[in-house]
Amino acid sequence: VSEERDGLVIVYTGDGKGKTTAALGIVVRALGRRLPVAVVQFVKGQRKTGEGLFAEGLAGLDFRTLGEGFTNRGPSPEVHAAAARAGWEEARELVSAGRHRVVVLDELTYVLNYGWVELAEVLAVLAARPRATTVVVTGRNAPQGLVDAADLVTEMRCVKHPYMRGVPALPGVDL
Ligand code: ATP
Ligand code: MG
Repeated sequence: VSEERDGLVIVYTGDGKGKTTAALGIVVRALGRRLPVAVVQFVKGQRKTGEGLFAEGLAGLDFRTLGEGFTNRGPSPEVHAAAARAGWEEARELVSAGRHRVVVLDELTYVLNYGWVELAEVLAVLAARPRATTVVVTGRNAPQGLVDAADLVTEMRCVKHPYMRGVPALPGVDL
């Protein structure tokens, strides 16, 4: 594809499974077309994810997770907030620089809903981004302002999930 089209703001939200994996589906498509991609994961789990392992040493994919402060145990709220802010500064630079055709901001809604990053600031960065850049935001409870600003919004609705009958996350499927 030689012609450079305008990118999109895409939001995957809702309480059903599939938000992050839908974003990763776009990542696969873009990488297949040799387009540069960045992924920033705002919630860092204890274990390595399949996507993180996939990204190791892969040219064209800039994959980042937040620092140690940003987990759901341990540090004080101030440490969480600072880690979230630092992550957002990195994300802002990635979106604004235009080096990547697709930038995924995984679980950004979490950071917004905690009030660690201002929605207005995120909307300003999205609005001012280079034209060809597609930004994919995932996470539950996307704020209305983000939904309004997006070109494409899909809400995953949980109909059934094995977690409901006590089945833990399955490597290769859930992480
Ligand atoms: P995935 O990364 O599998 O696409 P997701 O991004 O839609 O899921 P998150 O809210 O980020 O969902 O949570 C990720 C983890 O929580 C995954 O292990 C996923 O299977 C699990 N999960 C997602 N939705 C549900 C749900 N409705 N009930 C229980 N667990 C869920
Ligand atoms: Mg997710």
